[in-house]
Amino acid sequence: MSTSNTMTLEVGTSSDVGRVRTRNEDAVLAEVPIFAVADGMGGHAGGQLASAIAVDRLRELVGRDDVTTDTLLTTVEQANAAIVARARADAEVAGMGTTLTGVCLGSVGGSPHWFVFNVGDSRVYRIQSGRALQLTVDHSEVAELVAAGRIAAADAGSHPLRNVVTRSLGSDPAPIADVFVVPADEGDTFVICSDGLTTEVPDADIATVVEQNAGSAQAAAEALVARAVAAGGRDNVTVVVVATRAAPALAAAAITAPRPRAKGTDDD
Ligand code: MG
Repeated sequence: MSTSNTMTLEVGTSSDVGRVRTRNEDAVLAEVPIFAVADGMGGHAGGQLASAIAVDRLRELVGRDDVTTDTLLTTVEQANAAIVARARADAEVAGMGTTLTGVCLGSVGGSPHWFVFNVGDSRVYRIQSGRALQLTVDHSEVAELVAAGRIAAADAGSHPLRNVVTRSLGSDPAPIADVFVVPADEGDTFVICSDGLTTEVPDADIATVVEQNAGSAQAAAEALVARAVAAGGRDNVTVVVVATRAAPALAAAAITAPRPRAKGTDDD
């Protein structure tokens, strides 16, 4: 990728069904330039199918070095349309949907930028100076109540509406996806996760675990998932860690990422 000659990506992925659910309806994609998590919902196999369709559509961007925000948004719209069409064709999965969030490396004005995208209440964090900064805005009833000043942020986690998402793929009309554009810098570390992580592990602990595993994105992803399962594992939990490293000065230009590994999933 010519725009990113000085950057090397190190990527880790991990997923677990948790301690309560019988199937893992999360799906993950971690192949350059796109890193994403989808958290499916719906009866029967609907949730699993919806998240798998979303990730399969995004996979069409793998290997491309010319992704723009328009390309990304169009692909997300196509994913939504594919889920809607499938749900209409098959009564068993009627009403299925999924969240979709992640980061995609693209070029703006000739320099590398991350496109941070989101529909639903899965999240992207940037780990910075020992803190986990949430880059995405949750599309959920509780997030909207907090934003409106109706409830305190501290009460959001125990609120009865905490699981209600206000935007998801599988909707007609299509949901509006958020896209934020941030310059890509050496040292950026992102955590992309389903709510199975964030309902079990406080933001401060997410940052701590990543920094304790700063030498390995895979170890960081596995440690985060293990922490969520140990804390109760009441939902499927999926994590992608993307760490940008400076390449050695004379190294040949390349962005490299290992093959994604998922544990406890049978839908990817
Ligand atoms: Mg979930």
